[in-house]
Amino acid sequence: MMIRTIQCPLPLEQSLIDTVCVYNQAVQVVIDAGWELRSYNKNVLHAKTYAAVREQLPNLQSSLVQCARDMASASLKLAKKKGWQCKKPVKKPTSSIRFNQRTFTPFLESGTISISTIDGRKVYPIVIPSYFQRYQFSTVNAMVLKVKNDKIIAFLNIEIADPIVNDRPTSFLGVDRGINNAVVASDNTFLNSSHIKDVKYKYQKLRQSLQSKGTRRCKRKLKSLAGRERRFMTGENYKIAAWLVAKPFDCIVLENLKGIKTNSKKQKKVGKQARKRFANWAYYQLELIITNKALEAGKMVLFVSPKYTSQRCSRCGHVAKDNRHGAEFCCKQCGFSIHADLNAARNISERGKAVFGRAKVNRPNVARYDAAEFLPRIAAASPRL
Ligand SMILES: [Zn+2]
Repeated sequence: MMIRTIQCPLPLEQSLIDTVCVYNQAVQVVIDAGWELRSYNKNVLHAKTYAAVREQLPNLQSSLVQCARDMASASLKLAKKKGWQCKKPVKKPTSSIRFNQRTFTPFLESGTISISTIDGRKVYPIVIPSYFQRYQFSTVNAMVLKVKNDKIIAFLNIEIADPIVNDRPTSFLGVDRGINNAVVASDNTFLNSSHIKDVKYKYQKLRQSLQSKGTRRCKRKLKSLAGRERRFMTGENYKIAAWLVAKPFDCIVLENLKGIKTNSKKQKKVGKQARKRFANWAYYQLELIITNKALEAGKMVLFVSPKYTSQRCSRCGHVAKDNRHGAEFCCKQCGFSIHADLNAARNISERGKAVFGRAKVNRPNVARYDAAEFLPRIAAASPRL
């Protein structure tokens, strides 16, 4: 099962706004009691606060009181983790609130949702984003309501059946996440990233000038700038992932870059200036998006060791440091000359293929094939993005 969160706007209606407000009061009552008792145990909290909450907030129906208690318990649990050495959690009247399955019922076919409010059950129109309409979702697990400026947004946790992934791939697409190109694929295609770098560079310059001023207005501006940059990068990563997943290959092979920091060899291929520009590229996010998109399309994602992918000749296998000169690869042994990132992408593809070559004898259980020279890691569906 994969769990996804979808955002659906709800009408800004008084019953909903009041419910959020009263619910948060209830959460606070329970937090106060739990904080005194140094406990997040739901039974303890229930025994201590249920009657009081019902009396203080008679409009809040009993199942919502239970939701509020569970939310308070979660906050208290966090406080416990910090050894109660933090400030007592405080709920604002507009803090997000959580509904369990008993307190809302989505009717996705008719585009409505019934929600427990302090004025009883109410039905609201709901629009499922078109992207999710193609899914058959079996269950909607929980809902979080968020009041944001003058909007109410419902975050629905939905369960989607696991896609069937081809576990005997025969075609492998090696992907090198290059410096001058966002990605280079082993099918001789390049995805240029100069516009991404330009935009990131622009943001960096803006950031520097704002940081040097340091007024309150600048700080606020910096914050919104960070959000904009992040959203831009996420959008670009989605485009890159879509481009890769659409290719006719049933296994996408990536380098296992976990643990590789910005000052690693991989990044030292370029100058200091480019490295700085590149340092905060959301690679991990790109990896996640590729993995999710590929699994949805029934494709496998394989992670292989990045060792020597840029030094090894993809034609004869000769490994030498000076095979590579910047963007150019020229093998010292066989004279093979090729774009350096493309050479790396081909090596990565080879490594993916090798994993399944060995597995031919048995049923491929790739997790077992952690041979010394590479440690393949098969991507699992990540719970949410
Ligand atoms: Zn060679």
